[in-house]
Amino acid sequence: MLSLYNTLTKQVEEIRTVEPGVARIYTCGPTVYRYAHIGNLRTYLMADWIRRVLAARGLEVRHVKNITDVGHMRQELVEAGGDKMILSALAEGKSVEQIAQFYEDSFHRDEARVNILPAAVFPRATHHVPEMVSMVQRLLDNQLAYEAGGNVYFAVGRFPEYGKLSRNVGSDLLEGVRVETDPLKHDPRDFTLWKAAEPGRDLKWDSPWGPGFPGWHIECSAMAHKYLGERFDIHTGGVDNVFPHHEDEIAQSEGTFGHQHVSYWVHGQHLLADGAKMAKSGGNVFLLDDLIARGFDPLAFRYLCLTVRYRHRMNFTFTALKASERALTGLRHRVWTWKGRVEACLAPTSDAEEWRQRFWAAVENDLDLPTGLAVTWEMVRSGLPEAAKLALLLEFNQVFGLDLDRVPAAYRLPGAVAAVVQQRQTLRQQEDYVAADARRAEAQAVGYQVEDTRRGCRVRPKSSLEQRLERWPSVSSGREVESLLDQPAKYEFTLLLNAYDYQEDVARCVEAMLRYSRGYSAEILVVDNGSTDGSAQWLESMQARQPNLRVIHCDHVLGDAAGKNIGVKQSLGANLVLLDASTEIVGDVLDPIRRRLADPSVGIYGPYGLTSADFKHFHDNVVEGEADAIQGYCMAFRREAVNRVGLMRECFRFYRNLDIDYSFQFKDRGYHIIADGRLPLVRHEHRQWFELDEGQRDELSRKNFGRFLKRWGNRTDLLIAGPPAPAPAHGHDHDHDHGHEHDHDHHQH
Ligand code: AMP
Ligand code: ZN
Repeated sequence: MLSLYNTLTKQVEEIRTVEPGVARIYTCGPTVYRYAHIGNLRTYLMADWIRRVLAARGLEVRHVKNITDVGHMRQELVEAGGDKMILSALAEGKSVEQIAQFYEDSFHRDEARVNILPAAVFPRATHHVPEMVSMVQRLLDNQLAYEAGGNVYFAVGRFPEYGKLSRNVGSDLLEGVRVETDPLKHDPRDFTLWKAAEPGRDLKWDSPWGPGFPGWHIECSAMAHKYLGERFDIHTGGVDNVFPHHEDEIAQSEGTFGHQHVSYWVHGQHLLADGAKMAKSGGNVFLLDDLIARGFDPLAFRYLCLTVRYRHRMNFTFTALKASERALTGLRHRVWTWKGRVEACLAPTSDAEEWRQRFWAAVENDLDLPTGLAVTWEMVRSGLPEAAKLALLLEFNQVFGLDLDRVPAAYRLPGAVAAVVQQRQTLRQQEDYVAADARRAEAQAVGYQVEDTRRGCRVRPKSSLEQRLERWPSVSSGREVESLLDQPAKYEFTLLLNAYDYQEDVARCVEAMLRYSRGYSAEILVVDNGSTDGSAQWLESMQARQPNLRVIHCDHVLGDAAGKNIGVKQSLGANLVLLDASTEIVGDVLDPIRRRLADPSVGIYGPYGLTSADFKHFHDNVVEGEADAIQGYCMAFRREAVNRVGLMRECFRFYRNLDIDYSFQFKDRGYHIIADGRLPLVRHEHRQWFELDEGQRDELSRKNFGRFLKRWGNRTDLLIAGPPAPAPAHGHDHDHDHGHEHDHDHHQH
């Protein structure tokens, strides 16, 4: 029987259902005024795997997954400063109901694409307000709640078991509670069950306490009760749900019924992307659509999630996703091949029974799917008869849910392809390998992969990933890119652009690079940092025509520093000129750069210099001469210096303050930073900055500035102004300054 880690008891426990033979599961579902991201999907996949393992054991599963619709939207939006997409939908006259329907549809589509079995019921919060009202009433009757000013609060102090799930009690709990001053609450730990509608609120319901709307947690208590009863088996969610959401749910439900509500609380750890928490502002929130748009099979994501245990955090990378897609393709091909060869299924051998036991022992052991997968691969590669392997693989797939059972049997090659492959075989036997390779290329050109294995030649359709990779090679991480920095320079200059979308800007910048490098020994290197707007195609077509232009594609956005570092590592010019797509060369910049960088004491040279007296403010007041930093719109430095100074710090995913940080890496090594405003360059609108809203700019800037300050804040000795004079006792503080303001203040006028 399946065992799972129960957050409530802090133990791995064997699942014993309330009603024998039936498992009741409740999953905290999506909030439908935004898209679900792949982290949310990971949590839903966990519930799906629990469900499949139980079903495989013969249990009937009743699964409920709620839809948190727009009941709370306004409240949350006001706090978050407004969501552009929702506000514009509202402005277009779409109703909140329509918005919810739109995101709910998209959620169902995503679940279906990763083969998550649909829940039996997807109850919507706003359709269950009467049930919530009646539960709140029962809590009032049970003396566990009180009304104040049209609001109803849960009295945490009257429920002694509060904290048993999250172990948040006493002072911990107070810390966990958001600092707020709601004078109506008797105790700051109390939470809202019902909230009076503020004037002007559209979404509101009548209640015994006047018009209002429910608190967030009560929806899950009320709907779980309605569809699964007063006692049910498993409740799932992500770790962020433990407190306060599930703690409050326990208080509400058990406070209403007077007994335990849920037997097993199961929480999935979060998914990180490229090593960082997924955040809109970090540019690393991925939707399933993003993976599909980049040519991946959604089931490759499902496979990837099988490789990390649910209780561990999972770091999503495209490198890992690619490996997963290859592994999935490998399993599919085996099914193809075996289905084609195996006539009748043989009776299971005792060897097969051993594999089966190993597999089920793994997956039932706290859902250890990675081990289950490892057992599967071992089995697939074992000497078991093919018929037995096929049967086991399809059995295990009932848990995996990778659609292996839908792989067509004995897949047939179109006649023309079969003929070409046959000719190739003959040519190979005649040892005419050149002609044989040409036949293979013919098959490949029409979408088939021809592979030579120990058992002979295998032909199969290319996977979507293979087809995509064929368009042009791409990298998933800077680690895949070799550093050429220890090799001698081949050119005098490398003009380097880290490009991300905005094709017109990229084109303007690259064309100017080409024009003004003519007559010099120069290469132009463009890192296409995961563009999706046509920039990649444009760069490819330019590369075909321009022998000194080289493009390196990334299969997703790697972040600013990582992209620039790829270019730096691959550069072969003695002098590097790093440009931003918003900057345009309008005259001969290379000659002055060559002359200034001939001075070995010069580290970075560029047109836009900054100085600072205190690290808190940076001013772009240097027209000519020594500076503290050079802005990233154009910075030139010797390639040889990179070996001393190092690459840029890749925690800077967003460009801002990275230029200053890198300048200080040079300063720290004793180099001078020299500005020269006369360099012939023009700055156009910097769209990466202008596309952000105020909140995003602040957040991104603050984070990057924090990274910068942490590293350099005590190195006032590096400032050209030197360490500041001791501060007067009443000196004002700059706690909330976000670093240099050059972007918006001094943008082209
Ligand atoms: P929400 O739509 O925000 O209510 O989240 C839906 C579900 O996804 C909840 O169970 C969350 O705990 C879970 N979740 C949120 N962020 C992540 C993440 N980065 N990784 C895994 N699960 C997450
Ligand atoms: Zn919930």
